[in-house]
Amino acid sequence: MTDIVQKGDSILREKAPEVQAEEFATPKLHKIITDMSEAMASQHDAVAIAAPQIGVSKRIFLISGIVFTEEGEPKADDLVFINPVIKKLSKQKESMDEGCLSVRWKYGNVVRHEKATVTAYDETGKQFTYNGSGLLAQIFQHEIDHLDGILFTDKAENIRDMPDEEIEKIKNAGKQ
Ligand code: ZN
Repeated sequence: MTDIVQKGDSILREKAPEVQAEEFATPKLHKIITDMSEAMASQHDAVAIAAPQIGVSKRIFLISGIVFTEEGEPKADDLVFINPVIKKLSKQKESMDEGCLSVRWKYGNVVRHEKATVTAYDETGKQFTYNGSGLLAQIFQHEIDHLDGILFTDKAENIRDMPDEEIEKIKNAGKQ
C-alpha cells in the first residue's frame, strides 16, 4: 500500500520537474500512475491526487473516476494529467470549501477561478485539452498548486478541523 505524504514533508514544497519525453509509455510511469490510483482509492473522500503526495516529484495528477461517474453507473476510469498547464482561467472567482489528502482533517475556504482550461499529456504522450468548471476547475488549480509546492492552507481562510463524525465516516468507509 502506498502511503500519502503529509504536510511537513519537504517533497510537498518542491517544484516538481516535468515528465520527460522518453518516460512516456514506460512501465515505470505506469507504476507511478497505478500507485497514485491505489493511494487515492484508499481514501473514501478523495477526488484527486498529485504525484508528490505519494513521494514522487513529477508533474502528474489524477482525477478520480468518481468525479465523472453518474449515479448508478460503474465507476469511470481515473483521468491522468501529465505536465499539465493552465491555458485559461475565468475572471469570475468563487470561494470554495477545500481539503487535502496531505493536510488531513482540515478544511478551509479558498478563492478559485470558476472555470479553467488545462492542456496535458496522457500516459502514452498524447496531448489533450480539458475545460473544467466548478469542482473540476477547483481540482485543476489545487493539483497544479501541488506540482509547484503550494498547499491549499497557504491560500485558505477560515481553516478548521473536520467534524469528528465526518472523519469517522471517511475512516470507516476506508475499512470496508
Ligand atoms: Zn491536495
